[in-house]
Amino acid sequence: MSFRGLSFRHMSFRSLSQLGASSMLCCALAMLALTPAARAQETQSQEAAKRAAVLRTLPTNAAKRIFGAEKTPAPLEARSIGFYARGCLAGAEALPVNGDTWQVMRISRNRMWANPAMIDFLEKFAGEVPRQVGWPGILVGDMSQPRGGPMLTGHASHQIGLDADLWLTPMPEQRLSQTARETMSAVNMVAPDWMHVDPKAWTVGQLKLIRLAAKDARVERVFVNPVIKKALCEGAGRDRAWLSKVRPMWGHNYHFHIRLHCPAGDASCTPQTPPKPGDGCGKEVDNWLALQHRAIFGPKHKPGKPKPPLTMADLPDACRAVAVAR
Ligand SMILES: [Zn+2]
Repeated sequence: MSFRGLSFRHMSFRSLSQLGASSMLCCALAMLALTPAARAQETQSQEAAKRAAVLRTLPTNAAKRIFGAEKTPAPLEARSIGFYARGCLAGAEALPVNGDTWQVMRISRNRMWANPAMIDFLEKFAGEVPRQVGWPGILVGDMSQPRGGPMLTGHASHQIGLDADLWLTPMPEQRLSQTARETMSAVNMVAPDWMHVDPKAWTVGQLKLIRLAAKDARVERVFVNPVIKKALCEGAGRDRAWLSKVRPMWGHNYHFHIRLHCPAGDASCTPQTPPKPGDGCGKEVDNWLALQHRAIFGPKHKPGKPKPPLTMADLPDACRAVAVAR
């Protein structure tokens, strides 16, 4: 497998693209420790402590200081400005924390904001889940900050309001309490061997949920752990075209990630190169599995020096107006 063939854009650990292949295994390991998936278990107090620790050492010009502190959306026309991993969000809307077929988790993080196109997508998608998946609904994890942009913790992407993490466990019938939403743990779908899904956790429901997302024309990509991709490859049967959109990515073993296309007519949004055709099964997914397995169980290397965080100058100019709009 060529490392060049892999997309690392979604990764939280931005140094990855700077490093050579020889350092890649150590970084894959660092990713596994640092990805949002690994973070899915963090409670409100753990997250607050992490944010405080980040702020203590973060350069003063880091854009995440500004965007991570914003509590309200920019009162401007809705626009996704820039790229998924380098941009910001104007005119964001919040997903209501309760719907008939969804509940927002970890509300204290204030990451239930998105482009109105994503809110519309999620409400309709969640509405399909009972009939198409057989679950009462979905549990929604991190989306974007009120003004998008880089975050103090987790996620290289999620910056322009077109990315959403959904838990891989069904929404319970009852409405969860505030405390449960902050402390309840998602379920790891991957077995301790990091080569197979955990048969105690993985069901056909997860396959149906991911397939429902990937078949939607508004969805650009879906990210799942390589182990989950392998399970989808094995469970898909003859209907396989949707698998090309489902891309392996480190982490993503407690939740999966839905990325929407740039909304039609939003010229400020930078589209991503379409995923290559083909189902991505066979050798391709097996290479991902081998790489992940080596990263976890193979010899340990020191992680490389992380790249400095994005500054305002790294973001599109229009993000300045988004940051200051009142
Ligand atoms: Zn995500």
